[in-house]
Formats: sequence, structure tokens, C-alpha cells
Amino acid sequence: MSLTGKAKLAGVIGWPVSHSLSPVLHGHWLKEYEIDGAMVPLAATREDFSTVIEGVRRAGFKGVNVTVPHKEAAFAIAHTADDAAKYAGAANLLVFRDNGTVHARNTDTYGLAASIMEVLEPAYLLGKRGVVLGAGGAARGVISAMVSPLGASWIHILNRDAHRADVLAKQFAAEGSETKLIPGSLDDWATAAKDAVLVVNATSAGMGANPPLNIDLSALRKDAAVCDIVYNPLETKLLKDAAARGHKTVDGLGMLLHQAVPSFEAFFGVSPIVTPALRAALVKVLGANK
Ligand code: NDP
Repeated sequence: MSLTGKAKLAGVIGWPVSHSLSPVLHGHWLKEYEIDGAMVPLAATREDFSTVIEGVRRAGFKGVNVTVPHKEAAFAIAHTADDAAKYAGAANLLVFRDNGTVHARNTDTYGLAASIMEVLEPAYLLGKRGVVLGAGGAARGVISAMVSPLGASWIHILNRDAHRADVLAKQFAAEGSETKLIPGSLDDWATAAKDAVLVVNATSAGMGANPPLNIDLSALRKDAAVCDIVYNPLETKLLKDAAARGHKTVDGLGMLLHQAVPSFEAFFGVSPIVTPALRAALVKVLGANK
């Protein structure tokens, strides 16, 4: 579909940005909903970030998706922010408002929650215990989703650097989280795993050529589910091992697809549906990028 002078434009900003799947995802929906619009990749270094944002805002863009390494900078330059972005101290979506202000959002929380609810029942974690592996940027969104809307009663946050897990647990507690947050190191895995119904890997271990986490899945209850937010490869060693032991598994592509829903709606005014056809299109691209 060719663009007209009235086309709605949005961007994805990162460094590098060529790996971003946002143009494929949004491009699929733009075609499906016959919208006169485009998602433009914007390669910007840290130094150029605010200049590029101001340039595209003035050029009439509706907003941008934000990827590595700009998520904290995006939060910092915004005039207003939603609770998820405030929790994370980072934004993956900037919406340019008609009054010239920039609104920061973090849709990772929504994406993870929607992905878990799609595969497991909505009340799967309600009042139960979970484990989050990792304490980096993505772990914040994951923990936030497990607190609300998923409603975990206890979350063990285990990280290679236990101090970072401690900092994260204290931040959530300070924000008044009713969920009990228990920080620890990866050495605490066996203790944390035994009562958990959901484990989420939010580390970058197992991504691309990174070695996988060395954890013993026999510590888990038989009915526990395992989610890995790493989506490249789609079936990580963690998920393969979990499936072989009979655990339900949730891959990282679901989170990636669902986190794009609020962005598309903010940019193009239509709330899109995550369909099997969209998932298949992304699986194809991920396969081709290997
Ligand atoms: P960060 O760099 O902020 O954090 C990395 C985390 O991984 C830290 O907790 C780090 O521990 C841990 N880690 C890295 N290597 C190892 C290892 N060998 N053993 C144990 N722990 C390790 O990254 P992000 O949080 O932004 O991203 C994490 C992963 O999540 C990436 O693979 C990313 O692609 C994926 N992701 C997926 C999304 C989706 O939509 N599916 C969305 C966002 C991210 P330490 O603190 O000790 O260094």
C-alpha cells in the first residue's frame, strides 16, 4: 500500500535498530487493517537520541517505540509517564501528544501478562508463588506483571548479582507492593523453586550464542509452568528441557507480540489482534535472521 500525504507515521528508535522486529509487526497490522501509515526504523546513538526524538516529533510522527540502549533516556525526557514506566524507570513507548508534550509508557508489563494469560489460565498465578530469574531492565516489567495483574502472593527474585535483586525487591516494596518479594542469588534456586507455580527467565542467558542458565528443573513442582522471555532462539534450552519434563511452557514471542498492541493503538488508532498469522510471520523472520 502506498502512503498518502496524510499518512500516520511512527518510529522505532535504537542503536543498532536493524534487529528490531517492530517494523515487521506494525507493518503486518498496517496492511491487515488497511491503514495509511508506516513504522520507520530510526538508528540513533545515545548522543543523538534527544535530537532525533525532537526532530520526528516536529515532523508530525505520532510517537516511537524505544529499544536498547534508550529506554531510560526515553523515560527521562518525557513530560508524563504511566505507572508501568514509573515502576521500571524506563519506557519502551513514547507518545507525542497534540499539545507538544511527550508521554512515556512501558508496555512490557502488559505484554508479559497478556502472553501468560493467553497460554495459562488468567488466575494461574493468583495468590500463588513465582520465581523471576534476572534483575535487569526486562525483569522489572516481568515482576510488575506478576504483582499486577497476575496477582502473585510471593515472588523470588534471583539474580547472578544478588545485590541487584535486593535493590529491585526494595524498590517494589517501597512502592507499596502487597506481594512479598524475596531477593536472592541463583544459588537459592532449589529453595525458591519448590513452591513456585511459575518461573520466568528474564536474564539474557540462552539468548543467541549466550550459554543457558545452569539450573536443575527437578527442583520444580510437576504442575509448575516455565516462561522464557528470550525469543531468539524461540525454543530456548530452558523451554526444551522444561517441556521434556512435562511442564507447560510460554515462549518470549508472546510477550513481544502483545507488548506491541498498546503501541499500535496509540500510533494508528486501532486496537490490533495478535493472531496465529502474525505469530507465524514473526517466526518466519526470526528463522531467516538466524
Ligand atoms: P539487561 O542487560 O538489563 O539484564 C540482563 C540480565 O541477565 C541481568 O539480570 C544479568 O545478571 C542476567 N544475565 C546475563 N547473563 C547471565 C548469565 N550468563 N547467567 C546468569 N544471569 C545472566 O537485559 P534486559 O533485562 O533488557 O533483557 C534480558 C533478556 O530479555 C534479553 O534476552 C532480551 O532479549 C529479553 N527481552 C525480551 C522481551 C520480549 O518481549 N520477549 C522484552 C525485553 C527483553 P547480572 O545482573 O548479574 O549481570
